[in-house]
Amino acid sequence: MPQQNYPITITTTDSVYTVNSPEDVPYLPDSVQKIIKDFTATDSTAYVKEEPAYVTPAYEVSPAFITGALLLLIIIILKAKAALRQIDAERIAAEKAEANETYIPHCLIYKGAEIEFSKAEVHSVCTKYNPFYNKLNAHQQDEFIRRLGEFIYRKNFYIMSSKGYREMPVLIAAAAIQISFGLADFLFPHFSRIIIHPEEYIAYDPLRILVGNVQGRSISISWKHFLDDYLNPTDGKNVGLHEMAHALQVQHIFQQQDFESEFKKDYENYDRIDDEILLAERHTGTTLFDENALSNANEFWATCIELFFEKPQQLQQQYPHLYSSIGTVLNQDTAAM
Ligand SMILES: [Zn+2]
Repeated sequence: MPQQNYPITITTTDSVYTVNSPEDVPYLPDSVQKIIKDFTATDSTAYVKEEPAYVTPAYEVSPAFITGALLLLIIIILKAKAALRQIDAERIAAEKAEANETYIPHCLIYKGAEIEFSKAEVHSVCTKYNPFYNKLNAHQQDEFIRRLGEFIYRKNFYIMSSKGYREMPVLIAAAAIQISFGLADFLFPHFSRIIIHPEEYIAYDPLRILVGNVQGRSISISWKHFLDDYLNPTDGKNVGLHEMAHALQVQHIFQQQDFESEFKKDYENYDRIDDEILLAERHTGTTLFDENALSNANEFWATCIELFFEKPQQLQQQYPHLYSSIGTVLNQDTAAM
């Protein structure tokens, strides 16, 4: 916009002129007077190069359009959230599958690789609770503790209670080491989890109350019954040994079906004998084996192991072939200990 109010400043290539009023104009050089004349005579609008105004079209936005847009936005957000949740669920499932773990709520977890026990601590706990350990010589006890440490290192212990004890992993591992002590393989690699319930627990499908069971990759035991059975070592009842016997059977017989192991060969020999024991128990009325033991071959095996460790002389006396066949499978002679 040109300035028509005085003073006016005119700048030429070699001078600057300040014009304070129209009276000054006649005293200026002709070329400058011409500039001023052109400048002041012309309508100011002629100097204004107005940019064409950009007129924003006034769109009419209807409320229905706004509502529709909002709904669309909400749907997009919800779908994005669902997609993220799905991705997250798949990631968690994949991690669990990778870790080969099942999520167990409300429990303490002792990761075997992260808990440390001194040799003196293991010795003290085993001496107090495990009669088999007490029958071993010093050299065998060293081997027992070494195996026990390796076993614990490879397992995770899930304690279904707010309170756990360091004796739990030690003594449950000791039961596994006890029954496998004559074998080269003592790690039960099929099983990654030991689940310890404070007492009897409910199992589903079928619904039942248990003190111990072996399922999938888990060995579950009621701690109350486990301890009671170890504190009473000659009654032929020991849930720890019973479940470890099932686990050993799963590990060596069911999981290694096409592997012709020494264990499997010896087990098949033992398995040929159990039928005659079933008949003898049923017909002579002797009651070394309970009803559960006589209900099926797997329970018979687990009970045999309990008797082998808790009533070895009686088992040997009553069923010498059975005793020796179990001794061959486990490579142990408990009656002679
Ligand atoms: Zn059983």
